[in-house]
Parts: sequence; structure tokens; C-alpha cells
Amino acid sequence: AIVVQHRRRINRRWARVAAVLKELEEQCATPTEKLKEVADAMTREMHAGLESEDGSTLKMLISFVDKLPTGDERGLFYALDLGGTNFRVLRVQLGGKEGRVVKQESKEVSIPQELMIGSSDELFDFIASALAQFVASEGVDFHLPEGKQRELGFTFSFPVKQTSIASGTLIKWTKRFNIKSTVGEDVVSELTRAMKRQGLDMQVTALVNDTVGALAGGIYDDNDVVAAIILGTGTNAAYVERADAIKKWQGPLPNSGKMVINMEWGNFRSSHLPTTDYDQALDAESLNPGEQIYEKLISGMYLGEIVRRVLLRLAVEAALFGEEVPPQLKVPFVLRTPVMSAMHHDTSADLKVVGAKLQEFLGISSSSLKARKVVVQVCDIVAKRGARLAAAGMVGILKKLGHSNGKTKKRMAFAMDGGLYEHYTLFRESLLAALKEVLGEEASASVSVTMANDGSGIGASLLAASHSRYLEN
Ligand code: BGC
Ligand code: MG
Repeated sequence: AIVVQHRRRINRRWARVAAVLKELEEQCATPTEKLKEVADAMTREMHAGLESEDGSTLKMLISFVDKLPTGDERGLFYALDLGGTNFRVLRVQLGGKEGRVVKQESKEVSIPQELMIGSSDELFDFIASALAQFVASEGVDFHLPEGKQRELGFTFSFPVKQTSIASGTLIKWTKRFNIKSTVGEDVVSELTRAMKRQGLDMQVTALVNDTVGALAGGIYDDNDVVAAIILGTGTNAAYVERADAIKKWQGPLPNSGKMVINMEWGNFRSSHLPTTDYDQALDAESLNPGEQIYEKLISGMYLGEIVRRVLLRLAVEAALFGEEVPPQLKVPFVLRTPVMSAMHHDTSADLKVVGAKLQEFLGISSSSLKARKVVVQVCDIVAKRGARLAAAGMVGILKKLGHSNGKTKKRMAFAMDGGLYEHYTLFRESLLAALKEVLGEEASASVSVTMANDGSGIGASLLAASHSRYLEN
């Protein structure tokens, strides 16, 4: 009788697992039709955001970048890239059309977690000090003409209301950052003051979002680049807009007739987005509740955390990992997206990578093959939804640009940057497949996606160069 009871209980548990998975699958479903609706909603929000400041979930920020790199840029320029978990400093020697990027060097520094939620001065002092050290290591391959000051492109990967090409105030922090005293401040002044405190003589000549940097870097390599997408810790897009289509723009129309728009698409929201209770709980408990909803479905900071929440429910309701709920599984953000990716890509027959990761990161000392399969399935559902929704957003941009509306079959290229896209192969493949699926075979033939590895760093230095104070005109 005890054996029978035991078997019944086990059966009930697996039935529960199946039910939770089925519900997850249904709520995360992204059939082609749904993706088309998301794409259309994205296009509509783009239009609305270009009309007024607050008429849209998309800020559609004016970047003040109205001319993109031509290839003529020359000289030594620095860039600083503050974004997700790391920041990078970079120097490039640009050699004009013939020389291109003659030489580049960069260094990555990880930011201690406490600095992301501490004070503004502490954060900028940390950055300026690392930059000063990097400048001190400049070798003879780099040339700064006599009497000139070093110039810097500052890639700042958060929403900024630009007041010029080299100034702008922080609208809000995103991702893992939350420092109240920086909000509303000019981040270039913050950095400049910190550089002074470090005794570093350098001038910021361009302040750009990472998407804008990636766009500049992308166009430098490929003239058909029309937009840049970041899929990393956070997500966002920038694209080249006709200046006269920006209704809210009150300044003079630039000579080029163009303006790069930083969409801040991470904040996109729509009733068409497939969401679950896990997403709602994640949002409610996040640093920025109610904001960055699209980002929370798509980007690297959150995918692993969504999976953790599903696994926790399965552990509680169906004892997926045994009688006791593994305590580690209750810790927010312990399951990082790279770990999720490693488990998702496990092709061994006994899913030993999954087993090892569960042990290493969640303290689950033994797991059945059946449980491991469930883990992979959860990763698959969550990653696919994110990837396919990102593809829908890209289609939204293409529509805004008039691609495949019957008028243009012009080749259009996306410059892509970010670790999620670069390293998470199954995510990347789902995204590209969904792009094809939504656009159709014919239209997708003129669309390409190129990994612009570290485009945003190079792009920022190119923009620093094209806005140098030493240019003749
Ligand atoms: C920020 C964007 C940034 C993106 C990618 C988002 O959280 O709001 O400004 O471009 O992350 O780094
Ligand atoms: Mg970045």
C-alpha cells in the first residue's frame, strides 16, 4: 500500500510539472501573427514618440548625431563605455580613409556591485581613476599632436536627454544601476569633474548611447547599416531618421537632413506582449517596477532570473528537485543568463552540464535526468520568447523605414552588439529565424544582421573624432 501511495504521489508531481510547463508554453507563445502585432505596435510607438516627449512608451531620444562617420576621421581618440556590469576604456589611432583604425587598445574593468547603487561621485571617481591609469599606459604607437588635449567619446548606456552632442542629463538608471543623485544631472559634467579630481586632462567631445556608438561603428564598416541593436545585459535600438519626420524637434534642421534616434526600446510595452505571472513578479520586485518591460522579457540581465522563478515554482509545487526546496533557488538573480545558456546548449545524453550547473549555482546535489530535461525545456521557452520578441522589434523598425512596403527592396543592415546575441547561440538562431518568418523569404533576403563586436566603443571614438574641437570647420 505504501508503495502504491508513493507511486501515486510521484505521478501527481509529474502531472503538476507538465501542467506548469504547459501553462508557461501557452503564455509565452509567439506565433507569427503575434509577432506581426508586436512589430506593428513598435512602429506605432515609434511614430508617437517622434511626435511628443510623453506620447509613447518609447522616448525616441534625439542623439544630436546628425552626421555619421565617413572614414576620414584621423587622430588619437579615447572612448569610455559604461553599460552593463563592466566598463571599458579604449584608445584608437584613426588614419583616415587609407589607414582606418591603425591601432587600438582597450581594457575592461568590472564595476563593484556596491558602486552601482552608491553615490554618483564614487562611481565617477572609480571610472575616472581607471581611465587615468589607462591613459598613463599610452605607448608610442599613439600620437597626440603637440599642444592638443586628449578627446573622449563617452558611451553611456542609459537613457539620457541630450542637450548637445557632448552633454545630457540622465533620465533614469536601468539594469543593475540605481544611484539617485545622478538622475537629472549632466553625466558629462559628472565625468569631467571626476577627471579633474584625478588630474586627468581630457575633454568629452561626444556623449552617446551604446546603440548610437554601435550605429556609428556599423556604418563605418558598412554603408547600408540603418539601425543598431544591443542585446546584452540590457536591450535597445537606434536608427537613422529623417530630421523632418521628428515632429517634436524644435531646433534647426541639420544639413544632412538626418538624425540618429536612440529609441530606448527597452521601455516598450504593449498588450500584445506575451507575459506571465513570473514576469509580473520579477517586475514588481525589480529596481525599476513598471519600467523597461520589453527589456525584462528579452535581455541578458533577466532571462536567467525568469528561469529561476519558474524552477522555484516547480520545486515548491512539484518537488522537482526532491522533498526540500533548494534554498539557493530562492535567491534572486543567482541563475545568470550565461549559466542558463550553458544548460540550454547541453547536448550530452545524460545532460551532465545541466546537472553540474544545477549543483554549482543552485546547490542541487543530485537531479534526475527527467528533471534536467524540464530545466532545458524551461530555458528553451524563455529564450525563444525573448529572441522572437526582439526580432519583432527589429521588424517594427524596418517597417518604420519603409522596408518591403512595396516601394523599397533596398538592402538594409543591422549592426548588432551585446553578449547575449554574441554568446547565446540558440537565442541568436531563434532571432534570425523569426526575422525571416515575419518578413517572409523574399523581403528578408535584403535584410542582414552583422555582429559589430565592440562597435559601440569604436563608434564612440569615431564620433569623438568627428566632433573634435580641432576640426577646421
Ligand atoms: C538602457 C539603454 C541601453 C541598453 C543596452 C538599457 O537598459 O536603457 O540606454 O542602450 O540598456 O545597453
Ligand atoms: Mg555594452
